[in-house]
Amino acid sequence: MRVGRVRGRLAVLTGDRAIDVARVSDGRFPSDPDLAFDRWDELIEWAGAQGTGDAEPYTADDLGAPVLRPAQIFAVGMNYGSHAAEVGLTTVPSGPAVFTKFATCLTGPYDTVALPSTGVDWETELVAVIGRRAERVSQNDAWSHVAGLMVGQDLSERTIQLAGPAPQFSLGKSFPGFGPIGPAIVTTDELANPDDLELTCSVENEVLQKGRTGDMIFSVSELIARISAVCPLLPGDLIFTGTPAGVGNARTPKLFLAPGTTLVSSIEGIGELRNRLVAGPDYPRLEV
Ligand code: ZN
Repeated sequence: MRVGRVRGRLAVLTGDRAIDVARVSDGRFPSDPDLAFDRWDELIEWAGAQGTGDAEPYTADDLGAPVLRPAQIFAVGMNYGSHAAEVGLTTVPSGPAVFTKFATCLTGPYDTVALPSTGVDWETELVAVIGRRAERVSQNDAWSHVAGLMVGQDLSERTIQLAGPAPQFSLGKSFPGFGPIGPAIVTTDELANPDDLELTCSVENEVLQKGRTGDMIFSVSELIARISAVCPLLPGDLIFTGTPAGVGNARTPKLFLAPGTTLVSSIEGIGELRNRLVAGPDYPRLEV
């Protein structure tokens, strides 16, 4: 099942058509996608019993972020060996490096993103959406708490992220538009192996990242077990699970995103994000 936000409303996507959930269910389910998660299992069961007769055409421009108001967003740094090595980490981390992206950074899969500076980097990531409250769950039980998976971009302003006596990961990764997600929440039964999916990042047809989620140091299920050992995970919460090698800040010379280009992030079986980049009001100089 593919569940998303079409023209602002909760929708089940089938090919190039969308079923408006609130209308077709006669109000049994809400039109606001952020209210879908408390009854996620019921929604998926209902959607599975629907034909496609009530589906209507939609275009990419109609798609918004499937989630806009999660209670919590977790993100994980250095979760691929290749990326940990390129940023200078010499030992495998003993636990995940967890930070947050604030919810105001979330944006749609085809939305334009304003660059605040010349130091914005790309990080294509698998994003897990929680569908069932998870508190102190075991790794074996973790996947049953996942509503589905999305593609995400953990856009990162490296000057702010790495400034000061303690790095400001959460601020540097939370400018408006720094969290494109989508194109839909894809349930794991749609995927041959949700633990091993190819992910890529490209700009203007140049491939900048290409990896597999199977190379994560801490898998989706281990991240859920470790995070839920501290913070209960709530329906609608997001986990950005880390990025493979190929980020711009680790290149020689460094390479960052430029206005006038399009950033494409994709994951096998889930889909892609296409975000046009423009200069923000303070570009190119950012006061930090
Ligand atoms: Zn990241």
